[in-house]
Amino acid sequence: MVLEKLGSNLKDTLSKITKALFVDEKLINELVKDIQKALLQADVNVKLVFTLSENIKNRALKEQTPGALSKKEHLIKIVYEELVKFLGEEKKGVEIKKKPFKIMMVGLYGSGKTTAIGKLSKYYTKRGYKVAAVGLDVWRPAAPDQLEQVCNPIKIPCFIDKKEKDPLKIYKKYAKELSKFDVVLVDTAGRDRLSDELIKELEKVYKLIEPDETLLVISADIGQAAQAQAEQFHKSSHVTGVIITKMDGTAKAGGALSACAITGAPVKFIGVGEKVDDIEEFDPKRFVGRMLGMGDIESLLEKAKEAISEEEAKDLGKKLLKGEFNLVDLYSQMEAMSKMGPLGKIVEMIPGFGQLKLPKEALAVQEEKLKKWKHLMNSMTKEELENPDIISGSRIERIAKGAGMPASELRDLLKQYKMSKKMVKMMKGQKGMEKMMKKFKISGL
Ligand code: GDP
Ligand code: MG
Repeated sequence: MVLEKLGSNLKDTLSKITKALFVDEKLINELVKDIQKALLQADVNVKLVFTLSENIKNRALKEQTPGALSKKEHLIKIVYEELVKFLGEEKKGVEIKKKPFKIMMVGLYGSGKTTAIGKLSKYYTKRGYKVAAVGLDVWRPAAPDQLEQVCNPIKIPCFIDKKEKDPLKIYKKYAKELSKFDVVLVDTAGRDRLSDELIKELEKVYKLIEPDETLLVISADIGQAAQAQAEQFHKSSHVTGVIITKMDGTAKAGGALSACAITGAPVKFIGVGEKVDDIEEFDPKRFVGRMLGMGDIESLLEKAKEAISEEEAKDLGKKLLKGEFNLVDLYSQMEAMSKMGPLGKIVEMIPGFGQLKLPKEALAVQEEKLKKWKHLMNSMTKEELENPDIISGSRIERIAKGAGMPASELRDLLKQYKMSKKMVKMMKGQKGMEKMMKKFKISGL
């Protein structure tokens, strides 16, 4: 995996949170220190590390935990969000907006331009585009051959001229043919360092081609030095995005990634190996998610997004206390329960009910059941939904038929409704509450 060490360090840190008894300032400080250490080891700029960890700490100490999350989950979410923000937040990608869409690669020797052309050819071919490559690296004698070797196995038309030493002439010679393609990938020459000569050459090529995207190819193993490169190239050659290559083979990838983040150069792709498929669109969310353990993070974010708000839950709680309860309420109650886990928070939020041990089965509900019930409720009239007691005989048949379900499902739903209503009735009024508390205490003994 890319940034394996950083990933495993961060995962260790997060598991410390999970194992801790409670979230307090001491834990937050420890967490921040761990994250700092992990990022510094991945070559991230010291100043950036400091800003990031300050952000995490401030949010962790000041922000209120959203109702649906535990304090620990909230802390993990903060770490995730700050890392994502740090890496550029949204996926930037390269969208093919016109035909031919010209993408020019620029970068120093050995950064991975030619390899990236092969990778992107395959990437866009797979997405249904007609792709061609054109070789304008006239500096390295073997460059045209290398481009051919990259393109031939994946059957990408490759336009080169092994004898011509003027990149402009080569391009002009093929311009008409190239215009028939959807995507044209332009390979250019590098140098071993950024020089005036290279800048001048690239400027000329740029003016002639007028590329729709100019991608700076940077090798991750230069770490934080990527910043200077990104800045210099940005100033002089109209760079619209960055491809960071060799993310697979270095511990310094964090340096290169974050360096681009500070210069504001959007990282659009990352190279993660030598093979033609080893390229990924760079998506900060996915990237961080994977580093921290995708499954866990995803379900956590899902939970935060979907869970019913505390306010909603309280409203339903009030309704229950008043004894108003119909099928629609049952449904939203069940839905809320299924999102919050079997015991649900609604009951906890009704004053005095937090301590009650209600029968789990009464509250637990499966997704499947909810779906069926929704169908059934969709074929009921408003009157039936508000006053389910009138549902019997021919109404049962009509509703079940309308929902395409056996009548037994509907009877199940009505049974659940009656049971819940009975519970609600018991809750109603102080006397009822006392009675029920007593009842549960006795049965609990
Ligand atoms: P150019 O001079 O910029 O055209 O660079 P090349 O495309 O010739 O690549 C230089 C070397 O880096 C080659 O040996 C490639 O196989 C290697 N390379 C390129 N991209 C990656 C990558 O993402 N991962 C790894 N491990 N090697 C890469
Ligand atoms: Mg090359």
